[in-house]
Parts: sequence; C-alpha cells; structure tokens
Amino acid sequence: MILSQNETQKENLIKLIDELKDYAIILLDYEGNIQNWNTGAERIKGYSSEEIIGKNFRLFYTKEDKENYKPDLLIRRAKIEGVANDEGWRVRKDGSRFWGSITINAIHDDEGNVTGYGKVTRDLTAKKHAEEQLQKHFIEIENKNKELEQFAYIASHDLQEPLRSLTNFSELIKSEYQGKVDENLDIYTEFIYGASSRMRDLVKGLLDYTRIGKEKELQEIDCNKIISDVLIDMNFLIKDKKATITIDKLPQVQGYGTELRLLFQNLIGNALKYVKTDITPSIHISVKNQEKNWTFSIRDNGIGIDKNYQEKIFQIFKRLHNRNEYEGTGIGLAHCKKIVELHGGIIWVESEGNNGSTFYFTIPKI
Ligand code: ADP
Repeated sequence: MILSQNETQKENLIKLIDELKDYAIILLDYEGNIQNWNTGAERIKGYSSEEIIGKNFRLFYTKEDKENYKPDLLIRRAKIEGVANDEGWRVRKDGSRFWGSITINAIHDDEGNVTGYGKVTRDLTAKKHAEEQLQKHFIEIENKNKELEQFAYIASHDLQEPLRSLTNFSELIKSEYQGKVDENLDIYTEFIYGASSRMRDLVKGLLDYTRIGKEKELQEIDCNKIISDVLIDMNFLIKDKKATITIDKLPQVQGYGTELRLLFQNLIGNALKYVKTDITPSIHISVKNQEKNWTFSIRDNGIGIDKNYQEKIFQIFKRLHNRNEYEGTGIGLAHCKKIVELHGGIIWVESEGNNGSTFYFTIPKI
C-alpha cells in the first residue's frame, strides 16, 4: 500500500502520541468515555488499553472530586471555553495517587459542534512532593526563627531586672563610699558600674532587636521628614563634630515609621562616629529611583571597612573595633539589616581603602 505524504505524516503523529511516555494523551467522546490510550497513559495511570477503552474518564478522579462534580465541571468548561486546565490528585489503577497537570481541549466538527475532547495529563508528583518538602522546611525554619526570637525576647526582658539592681547598687556605692573607704573599692566599683552599664545597653539593644516590626502596619512615610527629625535629635553631636551633611530630595515610601527612623539614625550615627579624629565628617544622603525599588545611599568620609568584613558587620554583636577606639554595642547594623528586610529590601556596604564607606539599602515600591 502506498500512502500519500499527508497520510504518512498523520500516521507518524499517531505513532508519536502512542509512544510518548511522560504524557497521557487520550481522546474522549462527548460523554467523556475513553477512545484511545497511549504508552504514557498506561505508564502514568496503570491501566492497559484493553482494560480502559470505553470507560469514563471520571474513574481517575478521587472520591471527593467526583462528589464535587469536578470531572463534569472540567468537561463543561472545555465545552464552553474550548479548553480547561487543572492540577490535582488523581487515582491510579492500584489506588495510589499522583499529582496530575491536566489540559482538556474540545474537538469540533466542521459545523463547530463539540464532538469530543483531547485530554493531556502530565504526572508532576515528584515536583509536587519536592514543593511540599520545601514548604515543610520553610515552615519549620519560620517556627524555629519565631522560637529563637521569643527566647531572645524573654531572656533580654528578664535580664533587665537583675541588671537594673546591679547598676543601681553600684551607683549607690559610688555616691556613698567613693573616696571614703579605700582606693581599690573605688576602682572595683567603677568596673562593676561600667560593665553593668554596658551590659544594660547590650540587653536593651537585643530587646529592641526582637521588637522590630512587631504588629505594625505599613504607612506612607516621608523620608525627608524622617531625616530632618533624626538630624534634630543629633544636632548636638553634628555641631560638636562640625560635620557637613548634604541630602538630596527623598521620596515617600510605604514603610514603618519608627523603624525607618532607627535605620537612618544608626547609619548617620555610624557615619559620624567612624572617622579619624583629625577629619571633619562629611556625609551625603541620596536616593536612586529604580523600576521596582528606591535605592538609598549614605556616603561618608570615614575610616572605611575592609572587604573581608563588609558582610560580617551586619551580624549582631559583630564589631571591628574595641570600645577604647570607638564606643558601641555591635547591634546597630543588625538592627538596620532587620529593618530593611522587614520592608522586603536588602542592605550592603561598599568601601575602598580609606576613602570612606557608602551604605546602600533598597525599599521596594509597593
Ligand atoms: P557599633 O557601632 O555599636 O559597633 P554597628 O552594628 O553599628 O555597631 O557596627 C558594626 C561595626 O561596623 C562597627 O563596630 C564598625 O567597626 C563597623 N562600621 C559601621 N559603620 C561604619 C562606618 N560608617 N564606617 C566604618 N566602619 C563602620
């Protein structure tokens, strides 16, 4: 028998459909009864073509889906809209379930009447399991994070009370006995007072850290107003250091006011602090309007930050200097990171040699 080119192509197409292993491609009649069965259908659903041809495709649906008329609704949608897509659990011959991605297309005669349906199913069980596993890990990590935050909150909250007693009593000893008993007592009390004051600052910083972003709502925030408030608060320090601060016009963003204020306060505070004593601080604050984000930058002429530490400084309690060089607790930039991430942005620093540093952070436009 000699076949025309058209018939050969058709035959090849039928062979291709029949041999496809990863897709169940079946024809349904108007009622949803199965007309043909390819290798993929047999592999995915477990029935041989002898067992299944003539049966209704509802067979593959779970009991709940059948009770909710899901197969009928899909067929109806394909009939009206030409196509119906769905993803969900389906049942194999042995009763086990697989996650199927399904497309049902209506087939029309020359007059445009629906005569049946073409149904393509892909088994995405492995992908579904991987997604579920990922989601499970994500929830586990989120719960662990919450637990840790709760722990840090309780610990720092409860530590405040005994610390307060320690600072208060050492202050009392200082005021009542300094210079009256013996020199060593004065020195030791000063040490106790200094250490407990520093610990009080650390514990307070930790407590503030756990409180960032708790039960708040996003608001329209004018960054110009935030900066001008921060600069008023820092006025004394700025005058004392004879610092110059230049600021471009800043935008309104969707954000958390108290947190954004703390963010600018920490970054400007550091820019004023980490400068050599013989240098007058010069700080420039600007912003770039990008498609999805505002990218803020705070540039200083300070001591700069070695490349090896440019990520580490955002970790809590991480400091590059001891307190004799520059006072601090090592919490400020951890606060900044948490605040920026709370807004869905990222923060980083760039610094070359001794030419100062530029801190960047993004705030997404919502
Ligand atoms: P703190 O200032 O209390 O030490 P931070 O978390 O704000 O804590 O900063 C962490 C470290 O990062 C600082 O100890 C300092 O070494 C470094 N750092 C922060 N800001 C600057 C800056 N503008 N220039 C140079 N170093 C900085």
